[in-house]
Amino acid sequence: MRGQLLKEIEAEATSLLSNLIRIDTTNPPGNETAAATFLAENLSKDGFECEIIESAPGRGNILTRLKGATEKPSLLLLSHLDVVPAKPEEWSVDPFGGVVKDGFVWGRGALDMKSMTVIEALTMKLLKRNNVKLKSNIILAATADEEKGGLAGADYLLHNHRNKIFADYVLNEGGGLAFPTQNRNFYTVQTAEKGILWFKIIAKGIPGHGSTPDVADNAIIRMNKVIEKLTRYSPPTMIVPTMKRFLNEIAEDENLQKHISRLLANPLQGDLLLDELAKTEKLLAEEIRPRIRMTIAPTVIRGGVKENVIPSECEATFDCRILPGQATSQAFESIKELLKEVGLDKLTFEIIQANEPSESSFETPLSHVIIDVLRQFEPNCGVTPMLMTGGTDSRFFRQEGSICYGFHPMLPEIASGKIIKREHGIDERISVENLVFGTSVLYEVVKRFMSLE
Ligand SMILES: [Zn+2]
Repeated sequence: MRGQLLKEIEAEATSLLSNLIRIDTTNPPGNETAAATFLAENLSKDGFECEIIESAPGRGNILTRLKGATEKPSLLLLSHLDVVPAKPEEWSVDPFGGVVKDGFVWGRGALDMKSMTVIEALTMKLLKRNNVKLKSNIILAATADEEKGGLAGADYLLHNHRNKIFADYVLNEGGGLAFPTQNRNFYTVQTAEKGILWFKIIAKGIPGHGSTPDVADNAIIRMNKVIEKLTRYSPPTMIVPTMKRFLNEIAEDENLQKHISRLLANPLQGDLLLDELAKTEKLLAEEIRPRIRMTIAPTVIRGGVKENVIPSECEATFDCRILPGQATSQAFESIKELLKEVGLDKLTFEIIQANEPSESSFETPLSHVIIDVLRQFEPNCGVTPMLMTGGTDSRFFRQEGSICYGFHPMLPEIASGKIIKREHGIDERISVENLVFGTSVLYEVVKRFMSLE
């Protein structure tokens, strides 16, 4: 059976997305209540009763649900309403104009992730309109604050209104986009996220006159040693279950197969083997590298006050990302250990933010439905789990035991690298074709997974 494209929802999906983009939810400040109210009104036309919960004035989260016959397994369709800032002068259209032209809906949030809000809302409406009898409850939640860490959104709801939002399974952003290979399209499902450790180091020294540097103790030189040490550090490489499956899935052509099987057999030699792969497949090798190891990058540096003063203090911020299975506290200790040679008595450390990594198994009833449905739409396609180097709200739910998949189904309308750049980028847009495709696939997945019959 071929998957059925729901052409009939094209106009509805397009106008809903266009209207949501017109409500500026740039975070900060967010102002998501306006979008939540609009969505609640829209859903009420189909008879949905929605609740808007504010974590702070203006920071609205919207929730609604469809009731099923039993309590388990429940499913949450999750999205966020806030967007990152956009500079109108850089865009070729108004980023908050909700412009529809050339077969695309343009604007900030078109990809990340008001389109997913629309696809999920339409999935709920279609289940209701088609009177689908459900095994158990389906919750729809569009939340605030994801782009600034989710503390006023998903995290707030989980901790203050757990019974309204917690579900056994969660579908969210982060995957779903197909990337084309030589032979076929591969659809991704985000099953894992790296953990985040943002920390600050202050190097201390002894101030002095710039004309007699050896009398003083220059904090900038000390920080230089810190940066050298941390950026040259080559942490052990390892292959988590998501990456193991990913690598096995994509290793189709013979040449790639050779490299990948060596990598899987010798994960500890990952760096060397990727150097080898980079000679022919540079882009792929550099995509894989941060996914098999912890990374540390300096991102902010400050030091010095005047041309002729040797500074007594230099401060730098680092962005460290760790793999599932590692812990931020461990990573922090290993960083300190590494800097012993530079002199721990002259350094102070401060954690700015720490989020643990997370991973869901890709061997579940839901993943099987996702694979089946995608093959209905595209019989020859590959489907692979994917580890994301950044973070989404899924991490909060995985910590509480939910199986979370990032799955926003999208055809590769242009090179996948370009679509990814458009998220948070200039001229962000999604094709109307992909709105229809995304809704058609997601509706079919949810219906098959949750239907009583
Ligand atoms: Zn997002």
